[in-house]
Amino acid sequence: MGFWWRPLSVLAGVLLAALALWAASGWVAALGFLAGIQAIVMRRRLWQEFRLSRWLENPDEVEPPDATGTWGDIFYRLQKLQRRQKASRSELSSALEQFEHAAQAVPDAMVILNGNEQIEWCNPASRTYLGLDSERDRGQFIRYLLRQAHFLEFLDAADFSQQLACRSPVNREATLSVQLVPFDEGKKLLIARDVTELERVDAMRRDFIANVSHELRTPLTVVGGFVETLADGPDLSPADSRGYFNLMLDHTRRMQRLLDDLLTLSQLESADHALKDERVDLAALAQALKGEAESLSRGRHRVVLRLESDAGLKGSTQEIHSALGNLVSNAVRYTPEGGEIALSWRERDGECVFSVADTGEGIAAEHIPRLTERFYRIDRSRSRETGGTGLGLAIVKHVLTRHGARLDVQSIPGKGSTFSAVFPAHRLLRASQDAAVIPFPERGQAAG
Ligand code: ADP
Repeated sequence: MGFWWRPLSVLAGVLLAALALWAASGWVAALGFLAGIQAIVMRRRLWQEFRLSRWLENPDEVEPPDATGTWGDIFYRLQKLQRRQKASRSELSSALEQFEHAAQAVPDAMVILNGNEQIEWCNPASRTYLGLDSERDRGQFIRYLLRQAHFLEFLDAADFSQQLACRSPVNREATLSVQLVPFDEGKKLLIARDVTELERVDAMRRDFIANVSHELRTPLTVVGGFVETLADGPDLSPADSRGYFNLMLDHTRRMQRLLDDLLTLSQLESADHALKDERVDLAALAQALKGEAESLSRGRHRVVLRLESDAGLKGSTQEIHSALGNLVSNAVRYTPEGGEIALSWRERDGECVFSVADTGEGIAAEHIPRLTERFYRIDRSRSRETGGTGLGLAIVKHVLTRHGARLDVQSIPGKGSTFSAVFPAHRLLRASQDAAVIPFPERGQAAG
């Protein structure tokens, strides 16, 4: 009703004025008056229509028309409409921008397919994993671009609860997990996730379980066999029985060593096993390790110790003892009788190095990078005969990594090997440096 009030009252005023004019000056004057008013209204209307059309043509650049009366009302409403449209347009574009940014940041490949399986949109990660280009491949059929048989079958099956594991078409080393998610009418969102690392960890886990089972099976079978023999043959001579018991003890100890090493490894790996910050007295530790080497060797080797540095280390005494003890025990176990084992502690280019050099059988170059893998052994039976578990160097690597140190292996087959634990400068402690001195623990407490 607000709209009609003004024009109707103006119309009524004009009609009243025309009637008054008719009564005063006759109908010709009244008609002339009405024609004049009509001409003014027409002219005003044309002018406002012109302004309106000019503004509508270019609403962002031309100033909005300004008028009074009904035209003013119309212009005001149109402007309000335009402002609302502008606001929702900018809201929409900022939402789109946000989506664009999020899609760029998503590490997984994302591709929107229309009902005909044509690419409508894809994010930058889809170039890395699927080799798709958001500009070049828009409108292309996904089937023509990704032609792996498994993928095509997966598309045909359209079973949205399933995921497909396949090789990336751009990087054969990468494994992808592909998923299809339906949305809207017939559209699909294809998501491809890089699961290479997960696959690797899973394969490692499977290998690890297989290895542990394999390692335990032999001693268990042997012990089981002897127990059966002893149970079935009560007439065995005491010497035979003693022999069987000794063998059973050997195998039981082997299992014990394996479980101890597994436990050590799992402790080193557990997230809540924080590294201690003790002062490790390397000179005392080296002396103790020399003693351990001599007792393991039982006089079969010459053991020497060269202490060229008085620096200590910051870290876990027990872990470092366990790691260096493994190197020493390997040197004794893989060096034939009469050989020499030299332990040394010295500084080199700001780093500190604990080396165990032996004159043993040595290691061919191709084995060296794999020595710290769990259960990696060059000569399986030699390792077993000497009480090895195949986990010693894996423990060494873990401990050294936790201390920011590294293992360096130099070897000449037939001549001998040198295993060096190289500690970074920030782990060194001078004798003068004040740190809570934690005494070197009793021998044998930690050797793994
Ligand atoms: P193991 O319990 O079998 O000794 P490790 O992890 O300690 O396991 O060592 C892995 C393998 O590295 C050993 O099986 C052996 O073949 C080789 N190895 C380690 N130390 C030496 C060494 N000082 N001389 C020769 N070979 C060695």
